[in-house]
Amino acid sequence: MSWEEYEKKLRELGYKDEALKIIKPAFEFAERVHAEEKRESGEPYFTHPAAVSLKIAELKLDADTVAAALLHDVMENQGIKTEELKKRFGGEIAFLVEAVTKVERVQYKGIERAAESLRKMFLALAEDIRVVIIKLTDRIHNMETLSYLLQEKQKRIALETLELYAPLADRLGMWETKARLEDLAFPYVHPDEYKWLAGQIKHRREEREKYLERLKPIVELELKKENIQPVKIMYRAKHLFSIWKKLIKYEMNFDRILDLVAMRIILKNNEDCYRALGIIHQLWRPLPGRIKDYIALPKPNGYRSLHTTVFGPEKQKIDFQIRTDEMDKEAESGIAAHWFYESSGKQAKKLDDKRFAWVRQLKEWQKEHIGDSSADTLSALKIDFFKDRIFVLTPKGDVIDLPDGATPIDFAYHIHSDIGDSASGAKVNGKMVQFSHQLKSGDTVEILTQKNKKPTADWLDFAKTSLAKNRIRSFLRKEGIKEGTRAKGNKETLGAIITAKDRVGLLRDISSAFSNLKINITETKSGALSRDHHRIIISFQPKKSVPHSKILMALRQIKNVEAVVISAKGGSASG
Ligand code: MN
Repeated sequence: MSWEEYEKKLRELGYKDEALKIIKPAFEFAERVHAEEKRESGEPYFTHPAAVSLKIAELKLDADTVAAALLHDVMENQGIKTEELKKRFGGEIAFLVEAVTKVERVQYKGIERAAESLRKMFLALAEDIRVVIIKLTDRIHNMETLSYLLQEKQKRIALETLELYAPLADRLGMWETKARLEDLAFPYVHPDEYKWLAGQIKHRREEREKYLERLKPIVELELKKENIQPVKIMYRAKHLFSIWKKLIKYEMNFDRILDLVAMRIILKNNEDCYRALGIIHQLWRPLPGRIKDYIALPKPNGYRSLHTTVFGPEKQKIDFQIRTDEMDKEAESGIAAHWFYESSGKQAKKLDDKRFAWVRQLKEWQKEHIGDSSADTLSALKIDFFKDRIFVLTPKGDVIDLPDGATPIDFAYHIHSDIGDSASGAKVNGKMVQFSHQLKSGDTVEILTQKNKKPTADWLDFAKTSLAKNRIRSFLRKEGIKEGTRAKGNKETLGAIITAKDRVGLLRDISSAFSNLKINITETKSGALSRDHHRIIISFQPKKSVPHSKILMALRQIKNVEAVVISAKGGSASG
């Protein structure tokens, strides 16, 4: 790409003379330095930094970051020294390029090295968020061109993308980046699942799009009647990987997946958003429990929008996302948008923003865990920072960010270790619950304490965060209590509960599905549900290497199988 073409694109994105003055020398230098180099695809190497920097420009970051993106591989690939960059481009750009290079040097080589690369990434993140934004953008372009690499390398890079980069983008509120990374990695990491899902989804998605296309003018008309002029109405297909994750959650049952395609209404201001929500609810009946006001109560990572699901014509469910243009842009670029909008200069490097308090939390956490083995560190990091999050409230309305599946025990220890240690009961939304109760986003949680109450070993089963687990363990150790009273479960048996219309050879197909996965069946039970429907319970010994999703997928593909549930109690369940 020539400078003239490149300049034209930047101007279209709103970059002015002042910015171009900073970017042009970086463009020319990088083009010259990479001149002899080729990518695996055979293209000139410079196409890569040029593409990455244009993606950065689309996020509307400052000129220094665009320049640094152009230069991001000159140290690593061509041995250019920091001093030279400093002389040519100044300290700021040299710093960014050097920081990106430092992260780059760590290669993902399995779990041991992953912790190391995470730690580096987080250090960079805490230092200057732009470094990580360049890394994420670099990764998108590398994923887009991944097919040119050797197969073995493809898998490693894709896995790293899925395990480290996508969750990081998510935590930075860069959802578009996250979605893109996941969908690019999906076919490399889970090729069979990807093929299956893509085939399943194709016509369902087209059908949904046609349906929403018919509804769009109806929505427009109703808004117009109330004098609301939407900026834009569009329907967005949900990205494949998130559908896949949902399917796993819902036992591969497509009927439970509502939002293959959602309708998004972009409006001028908050007031219009709330009015539009009311208009849609008058038009079609809302589904209880699906109305979410993330404008009044944004997610801690900053996401703002109104969500609702309604019963549309022909009793079909429709998901709506209603938001302003600003909220929509922020959802795309997350922390990057924040950086850009709220700072024209260079002083926004510190993350004082409350939304990103977890970055500070992370630094603290790192300090505490310096001596840990890498595998432990990584799994703890993944659980605490990368699992899907839920957001619950204290009775005073403070938002607490916890991992999905967290219980009142986690909540209690998150508030204060003393509250955890002396917890005697928990109330969720005003009702008493067990400590094993799984919290949901939006729950208000209250912990009751008693002076001489003590943690017990079974709390370890309820706790999801390593913070709570460590606290409980150290308490038990102090008290001389052994953890060992809990079942070790090395001969654990699970049950697959299958509902199917009976036919010849059904049982044979089911058992061969298990033997194809090399899973041992320990018991088979079968009973009639109705004249032609049967319930079959297969007890089996699970294998770590075979995720439930694989089993569910294999079973659901068998002819006449209508529903499958995998249950821990299945082994002993009857009927
Ligand atoms: Mn690169």
